[in-house]
Amino acid sequence: MKLSAEDKKIIEDSIRDIPDFPKDGIIFKDISTLLSNPKALNTLMTHLENRYKSYDLDFIAGIDARGFIFGSILADRLGLGFVTVRKKGKLPYTTVAEKYTLEYGFDEVEIHIDAFGEKKNPKVLLIDDLIATGGTAKASASLINKVGAKCVEVCFIMELGFLNGKDGIDAPVYSVLEID
Ligand code: AMP
Repeated sequence: MKLSAEDKKIIEDSIRDIPDFPKDGIIFKDISTLLSNPKALNTLMTHLENRYKSYDLDFIAGIDARGFIFGSILADRLGLGFVTVRKKGKLPYTTVAEKYTLEYGFDEVEIHIDAFGEKKNPKVLLIDDLIATGGTAKASASLINKVGAKCVEVCFIMELGFLNGKDGIDAPVYSVLEID
């Protein structure tokens, strides 16, 4: 279901730009002002609910940490379970991990080996607030597939289109807002 221009503006206007955070030259897209705005949050979540209710999903997975917020609200709206993809060292049970490169060095995400239970090939939507280079989402989608599920789409609230991050992701990508 397409987002109306009016609803898009409500969501867009609720997100705040913070220049030079966490370092010089980065414009940080701050979603705390979206979360504290009930109209914007409801508009966004209703749009995502309408889009994904026909996908016949089994789970929503969210990326640490802002993907947890949107992902768990969506999971509850769709009557689905929610799975966390976490930064290394946070999950208590047996995990599968995937490293990805950052501008300098690398980072690592993990998922519980039994995150999606017993069902064969469960269909999973992966969600995060923003895609920049795409490294975090690529590693997270690959973890979902590694533990026996199928990542059927990756959803972002915002996409920094000029970084072409979605090119490396081996699943369809949907972004609510594209930022040039
Ligand atoms: P990447 O792996 O480069 O696609 O980075 C995506 C992750 O970094 C997401 O979890 C985002 O929340 C965060 N991130 C990267 N750039 C920004 C930005 N300009 N504003 C807010 N969050 C960002």
